Amino acid sequence: MVLGMKKIIHIDMDAYFAAIEIREDPSLKGKCVVVGGPPNSRGVVSTCSYEARKYGVHSGMSSYQAWNLCPQAVFVHSHFKLYKEISQQVRDIFYSWTDLVEPMSLDEAYLDVTENKKGEESAEKIARAIKDEIFSVTRLTCSAGVSYNKFLAKIGSELNKPDGLAIIPPEKAQEVLFALPIGKFYGIGKVTAAKMQKLGITNGADLAKWELKDLMKAFGKAGFFYYHVVRGIDNREVITEFEPKSISCESTFDTDLDSMDELFAVLRKLSERLANRMATKGISGQNVVLKLKYDNFEYITRSCAMRGSCNAPEVLYKYGEQLLVANWDTARKVRLLGLGVGKLDSGGDCEQLSIPL
Ligand SMILES: [Mg+2]
Repeated sequence: MVLGMKKIIHIDMDAYFAAIEIREDPSLKGKCVVVGGPPNSRGVVSTCSYEARKYGVHSGMSSYQAWNLCPQAVFVHSHFKLYKEISQQVRDIFYSWTDLVEPMSLDEAYLDVTENKKGEESAEKIARAIKDEIFSVTRLTCSAGVSYNKFLAKIGSELNKPDGLAIIPPEKAQEVLFALPIGKFYGIGKVTAAKMQKLGITNGADLAKWELKDLMKAFGKAGFFYYHVVRGIDNREVITEFEPKSISCESTFDTDLDSMDELFAVLRKLSERLANRMATKGISGQNVVLKLKYDNFEYITRSCAMRGSCNAPEVLYKYGEQLLVANWDTARKVRLLGLGVGKLDSGGDCEQLSIPL
């Protein structure tokens, strides 16, 4: 892959709940297995085996409908505790490679392996290793998609299911995307797909012919997403569970404050407390957020972007002060002041950060 490009893997367990039930009861192997409520209940299908899918059974449909399509199906109840335990085993395998893991559900996750704990350069090798490790630990198969962004990695994991592996390097992205039926685009649901079909968009190649403004006219904000993903552009980061999205501290006063100097003093303390907490966690952030609660409990939050990523108390203070001056309605008493930082990341480069004041 090209230097500077990310290496993203999307892992999706195959027919996860059904595969686990079959593992637990091998007599189910090769049968149409439906995990969900029995057909004479109001239950729905949560997962089904590939054999059942051949009859048109899919997750989300009513068990009754599934039974009509596939009367020979074996209906089994779900065992979520077990599914969760196995998910944890699978996640432990992911974390042995990278901490940049974004679980989407019990059976699905994105991994950013651009830099990984084992120093392996090839994302393809990592994906193969993970598939093998998952199988040896759980006796379950999964499918993996490897690419340079989340969208394409997700598309990749669907391409060769089950037990699949697909690598989509930049030079192959267009070919894959243009040939992809519109309903298979992640993020394009049934309703949108139907609307697109009506407009003559049946696959990626059709979608790519549309200009940005026309897509946005027809589909609103989502049109922006469609325009870019069909060109293989998706800059979404892999977001880990462990990183909070923001961090903040606040202070409620015994008596409501109405002087700027007093508020500045509180802000000074808050910025120091906040900076300390961030330093301890080794994080910095790009946005400063100020929260202001008035004596009638009404409150406002205002934020601004810093120039870079930072956790230095004096910088946080300066931005907080700016927000306070710009947004405090001085005719009103303040009951609480809060300062936070959002768009967190690790590290930061406060030295180079100039304060625009
Ligand atoms: Mg799955």
